[in-house]
Amino acid sequence: MTDKTIPSKYDPTEIEARWYPHWERAGHFRLNENAPGPVFTVVIPPPNITGSLHMGHALNNTIQDITIRFKRMQGYKVLWQPGTDHAGIATQNKVEQALAAEGLTRHDLGREKFVERCWAWRDQYGREIVEQLRLLGCSCDWERERFTMDEGLSRAVRTAFKAYYDAGMIYRGARMVNWCTRCHTSISDLEVEYEDQSSHLWYVRYSLADGSGSLVVATTRPETMLGDTAVAVHPEDERYESFIGQEVDLPLTGRKIPVIADDRVDPAFGTGAVKVTPAHDPNDYEMAGRHGLESRVVIDFEGRMTAEAGAGYAGLGVEECRKRVVADLEGLGLLEKTEDYAHSVGTCYRCHETIEPLVSEQWWMDMSPLKGPAIRVVETGEVRFIPERWTRVYLDWMENLRDWNIGRQLWWGHRMPLWYCDACGGIVVEIETPERCPECGGPLRQEEDVLDTWFSSALWPLSTLGWPDDEEELKRLYPTAVLSTAPDIIYLWVARMIMSGMHFRGEKPFSHVYLHATILAQDGRRMSKSLGTGVDPREVITDFGTDALRFTLVILTGQGQSVRLWEDRFTVGRNFANKVWNAARFLQLNLAGSHLADEAPLSAAELPDDRELNLEDRWVISKLGRLAGEVTDALEAYRFNEAAHLAYEAFWHDYCDWYLELIKPRLYGDDYKAKGVALAVALHGMRLLLKLLHPFMPFITEELFHRLFPNAPADLMVSPWEDHEDWPGYAGDEEHVERLQKLIDAVRNIRGEMGVPPGAKVRLLVKTTDGDLAALIEAQVGYFANLAGVEGIETGPEVVKPKGAAVGVAGDVELYVPLAGVVDFSAELERVKKELGKVRERLSKVDKKLADSQFREKAPAEVVRGEEEKRDRLVAELEALQRHLAHVEEML
Ligand SMILES: [Zn+2]
Ligand SMILES: [Zn+2]
Repeated sequence: MTDKTIPSKYDPTEIEARWYPHWERAGHFRLNENAPGPVFTVVIPPPNITGSLHMGHALNNTIQDITIRFKRMQGYKVLWQPGTDHAGIATQNKVEQALAAEGLTRHDLGREKFVERCWAWRDQYGREIVEQLRLLGCSCDWERERFTMDEGLSRAVRTAFKAYYDAGMIYRGARMVNWCTRCHTSISDLEVEYEDQSSHLWYVRYSLADGSGSLVVATTRPETMLGDTAVAVHPEDERYESFIGQEVDLPLTGRKIPVIADDRVDPAFGTGAVKVTPAHDPNDYEMAGRHGLESRVVIDFEGRMTAEAGAGYAGLGVEECRKRVVADLEGLGLLEKTEDYAHSVGTCYRCHETIEPLVSEQWWMDMSPLKGPAIRVVETGEVRFIPERWTRVYLDWMENLRDWNIGRQLWWGHRMPLWYCDACGGIVVEIETPERCPECGGPLRQEEDVLDTWFSSALWPLSTLGWPDDEEELKRLYPTAVLSTAPDIIYLWVARMIMSGMHFRGEKPFSHVYLHATILAQDGRRMSKSLGTGVDPREVITDFGTDALRFTLVILTGQGQSVRLWEDRFTVGRNFANKVWNAARFLQLNLAGSHLADEAPLSAAELPDDRELNLEDRWVISKLGRLAGEVTDALEAYRFNEAAHLAYEAFWHDYCDWYLELIKPRLYGDDYKAKGVALAVALHGMRLLLKLLHPFMPFITEELFHRLFPNAPADLMVSPWEDHEDWPGYAGDEEHVERLQKLIDAVRNIRGEMGVPPGAKVRLLVKTTDGDLAALIEAQVGYFANLAGVEGIETGPEVVKPKGAAVGVAGDVELYVPLAGVVDFSAELERVKKELGKVRERLSKVDKKLADSQFREKAPAEVVRGEEEKRDRLVAELEALQRHLAHVEEML
């Protein structure tokens, strides 16, 4: 960039495409060993290789990048460790879909070829998300990028598995699991997504075996009755007292089953008598354990009815079988009634197939040895959740921690490092693949299951930072400083990282866990592609720029709150970026011919001497120095939106609206030296603001920094942060300017409300007994002339209100602006009346529309809301006009 002129038009696309590769080539993203401060490490929550950037990612990664850029400028040795996750089920599904398009299944290929296809898929598509993170400006150390299935991380997984196995924590057992008949794997309780579905409740009559009576059982799953082994009632339910211990004929099966009493039965559900299907319902499975009931498997792992279901039903799908059973019961006259019934049904989080609870032989991990340390480290505050309320959520879950089903019946993932010897029946668990059985020398057969994807994620902060092989690296980089993530993976991920860290290192993986806001669509629900309510961050980047995307996301999302977003909202960020651009350009235009254009001041130590400063210079220096401290504090405390707000307000109002306006007389005057001082202070202010804004808007700030500070020895992103103590404070001057600002605002309000023509000059009378204030006003008449069009000021205790003067109040001071001869009040009266008429007419139209019940019922909710908002705006406008009318009438 040889020409440093700031172009009149801000073009984010061009700027953003230029800086990222520059920073990367310059090595700014690398762990900076030579920085003076301590190490500050953040591990990225590894996005799935199947993922593409959504707003949640955009927010979370912006937050991490802000933290990293802030700490880098503060002089820490920062490392943002990036990487991606192999995403077992999701990736396998993608590859299976591709195979299906070729008319193939994974079984046609066999395991080895299928896994090769998964790797090929990853090489082709798995880097999309990483490219998107670059587009977002993320300053990760890409040279250290990891993948959960790379060699080192796979070794970490095997090492952890062996350690747990050797400690007796990994075992195999038949348990009821959540089975996806489409994905052909179990999934964890946390991965089951519940969907509200409307279905039915069927009431079926069962006769007592001795013919002495009957009872009615209500069920949402009539097909499972083929596997029933009991009917259960509550022990204190008087309706069924005499049935307990008897047998009933189970329709359609020819079997007899007992009526049992169990206090887990809810007497208020259906008829109070429920069927018990131990093989296909988790509660019934437990009940069967308590009562020693047999278990009959009538649904297989494909979701088909087994031979055990009986000749008429075997081989049917679950849905089909349900229809057949209901029809057969109806034919036998045993279906008492059918009610509509809405209930929540568990579905697979990946494919949304209904989950079948099935008993399956699975690998489990006993979590009890991991629990204590992981609870303690949070209770003592060594690991702190932000916002604080998540601490309770975490602790409650840890108290009720259950064993973890770690096996997945997939082919893509970490295959368990466990081998069977068929010759001697031994089991071998090793980190390195063994050749033969160490006991008998026989051939070995590796376990088919892969590990749950979260098994490797649980090791992420350890495995990416050197564990298990590089002790030096671990000592230097572990534990990390902060983890920023979405609240919905506290259990799946955050808790497990804490447990692994404590188990393998005896040390927490991070000090702080920041749980970011939830982003919702305009309708207050989660963004949905199918409803078209999603906003694609890439589109926002194209339309508004990355800086606008980042800044808007952060300024709009409070700590731990949810936020509604739609594309138009990103104008907040774009307008601000434009404001920053234009202010920098204004400054540069005024620098023409000054030595400051080439030798801009690079630190607050170069501020002009106290004696050369005007009141407004001392004010802005003091104010911006204080701002630096406040932004620093807010960033340290993860109050990102507060930091963004502070910088935004200071830039827009203090710096642009006041300071740059107040120095205009010096900029445009003949006093060369005075102009130089004003420019120098303005440049100092701009440098500080660009630094404070850099973590939020890295591209535009870097660009403007280079154009205004061509003598800077380094890029902005690696320039030192400036804090409160670097800047001198002038508290008294801040107070003085604030008093003057209040008076100027009051005059401006009067001008606006009374319709004073913009060019017209007014007189100002300030009634005050405060001699200091009077002196201050008289010393700064220029402020009033410059910013409020005031020509001639009178101050003092004896000031009286002239006739035809508007009255204003600023704090405890009353002020008058004589308007006779300045404003034509009778013409103004006519104008206001006419305007009032128009607003009333528009308001009555909207009111009529909103009073129409047809409109309210039929129009889409957004349209109705739009009309309501319009009415509110018109009411406010009407009130303002009425107030103004009253003022004008007073003047006549
Ligand atoms: Zn599935
Ligand atoms: Zn053997």
